Amino acid sequence: MADQPLTGGIELLNHEVRAEILLALAERMQEHPRDATLRFSELRDRVGHDDPGNFNYHLKRLSGAFVEKTDAGYRLSDVGHHFVAVLLSGRFDPDRRREFPDTETSCPVCGAPSTVTYEDGSLRTVCEDDHTMVLNVGPELLDSHSVIEALDVAMRRSLWEARSTMDGVCPYCDGQTSGTVTRYPGEPVPILYEWTCDRCGVFLQNSAGGCVLFHPAVVGFCYQHGVDVFQRTWEVLVENVETAAVCSADPLRVQVAVSLEGERLELTLDDSATVVDVADGGTYSVSTE
Ligand SMILES: [Zn+2]
Ligand SMILES: [Zn+2]
Repeated sequence: MADQPLTGGIELLNHEVRAEILLALAERMQEHPRDATLRFSELRDRVGHDDPGNFNYHLKRLSGAFVEKTDAGYRLSDVGHHFVAVLLSGRFDPDRRREFPDTETSCPVCGAPSTVTYEDGSLRTVCEDDHTMVLNVGPELLDSHSVIEALDVAMRRSLWEARSTMDGVCPYCDGQTSGTVTRYPGEPVPILYEWTCDRCGVFLQNSAGGCVLFHPAVVGFCYQHGVDVFQRTWEVLVENVETAAVCSADPLRVQVAVSLEGERLELTLDDSATVVDVADGGTYSVSTE
């Protein structure tokens, strides 16, 4: 797997001056988003490197993959920006714990009170029955958002990634994903939709409720009840989505419902997590062609 283009990309960044160049270009981008280009001398001044020949060598190594050279100077490439964004999110921060007042939310599995902690880049909710939900966020997010807001942000991002995965595209590497539904009898979440990426190997699981939360029927149903599911993603998932159940074994059909203000919207999924039927009082079918 570790062929030259892959290891070459990592080798390119294996120098402090190169990391400083990327950070200096990101700083410029933050100050002047519409004009993020720096001339050679400006960039060298920002980095504080006093050997032009040596500086030029490192800059040249970055040019192409991480830095774009234009007639006006140098700017971060898309890949370079992605890399710096991960650095700036604080994910490499050795002190990734964050202390906050005891926060309670509801368990996404059983609805019981759950406590929220943050450690090693993960927001973790645990209820008294040990149902655990883990969502990855950079620690910087918790400096600017409340815990519940951070749960919303993390859940929303996770569900968008799931959406891409369900469409067959890995959200991390653009590889092709393939999925299956797996039953876990006796487990707190007895049905999980699971995907793997054939390029980077990422393994993602989603509940039936998570699979349908951004379905147009659910978005519209919530909207009719005054709830923007894109804003209150965490709350809707833990408060309003019911546990899914198998309603037909062959072909496999899984039913999950969303309840708001005494009304229920029922969705039926097939084994690929495609919604094949939506019912709210009167039943109507979704075309599967
Ligand atoms: Zn629980
Ligand atoms: Zn992938």
